[in-house]
Amino acid sequence: MNVYDELKKKLGKNRVKANYDLSNLQTMRVKTCAQMFFVAHSREDLIAAKKASLALNVPMIVLGGGSNMVFSKKVFPGLVVANRYIDREVLETDTDFVKLKVSSGYPTAKLVNETIEEGFAGLELFMGLPGTVGGAVVMNSKWSRPPVFFGDSLIAAEIIDDKGNLVKVDREYFGFSYGASRLQDEGSILLEAVFKLKKSASAALKKTAGDALAYRKESQPYGVNSSGCFFRNISVDDQKKLGLPTASAGYLIDKAGLKTIAVGDFCVSDKHANFIINAGRGKPEDLAKLVKIIKEKIKKKYGVDLIEEVIIA
Ligand SMILES: Cc1cc2nc3c(=O)[nH]c(=O)nc-3n(C[C@H](O)[C@H](O)[C@H](O)COP(=O)(O)OP(=O)(O)OC[C@H]3O[C@@H](n4cnc5c(N)ncnc54)[C@H](O)[C@@H]3O)c2cc1C
Repeated sequence: MNVYDELKKKLGKNRVKANYDLSNLQTMRVKTCAQMFFVAHSREDLIAAKKASLALNVPMIVLGGGSNMVFSKKVFPGLVVANRYIDREVLETDTDFVKLKVSSGYPTAKLVNETIEEGFAGLELFMGLPGTVGGAVVMNSKWSRPPVFFGDSLIAAEIIDDKGNLVKVDREYFGFSYGASRLQDEGSILLEAVFKLKKSASAALKKTAGDALAYRKESQPYGVNSSGCFFRNISVDDQKKLGLPTASAGYLIDKAGLKTIAVGDFCVSDKHANFIINAGRGKPEDLAKLVKIIKEKIKKKYGVDLIEEVIIA
């Protein structure tokens, strides 16, 4: 029996697809497909997929909203699991705080909108952030005005570790830093996260969220195919060494004259130079070429290596 048949036996005959087109499942819309594909609708599905991938020695990745990852190959060699596990539960509430358990496939926009309506503060600055709670926690998604990270209000979580065991972890486990968490390196899967949110006036949260969304729309390309900021900002040490007014990767790319350069359907946005935009059905090899050009030009002009913020699968 081949691996595909073995996976179907473990996860359901009609639930595992072969050569599945992923173009519409990532916001960059890179033309690519998955050798095998499965949609997880529950925590049991995520656990079963991880266990099956380990038992059959098949590489597996979880795809949340696909808004911070791009694929480097025409076919991802392994199992792509789209996370549609959507659930939430109030664990505890008192006069000041609420503890909310949220599943990893929960759409971030839905959670942000709901918590604003309910008067729970902590996530309102993420109004307009695409993707799922799993992606936002794993990437420790950020906002800069004022600086805040998605992991800031996380107090606990349950994960599936790289051996397939269920483990309850606290916030320290994540080792959150700028755009990063431990889960990115170790390949474990977030099942659910618990957030502690402060009870606040909904009207004030709406105003804060509205201002953040307005700034997002003003400063970033909106409603186009992209994966947000493509590169990480440079270190503050490098910024100081170079005597630059900012550590922003977009600033460096702009000053290197790279706005609007294109390869195939991919181009650097003229609105925000750290956004790469796919104008059509760009191929992975064209994206790789554009990224190489940007990195080489920045290295030549500034002597620094730009590092991708986007996960390249
Ligand atoms: C228009 C636009 C604006 C953006 N603005 C911002 C911004 O302001 N700030 C910011 O930080 N980012 C921003 N992003 C990037 C992105 O939206 C966020 O990082 C988002 O939180 C990623 O969530 P996702 O579900 O789409 O993750 P995905 O892209 O699906 O996944 C990202 C990584 O996390 C892993 N992953 C996802 N879910 C799980 C899970 N349950 N368990 C383990 N691993 C998992 C994936 O395998 C992948 O490695 C923007 C993107 C776009 C397109």
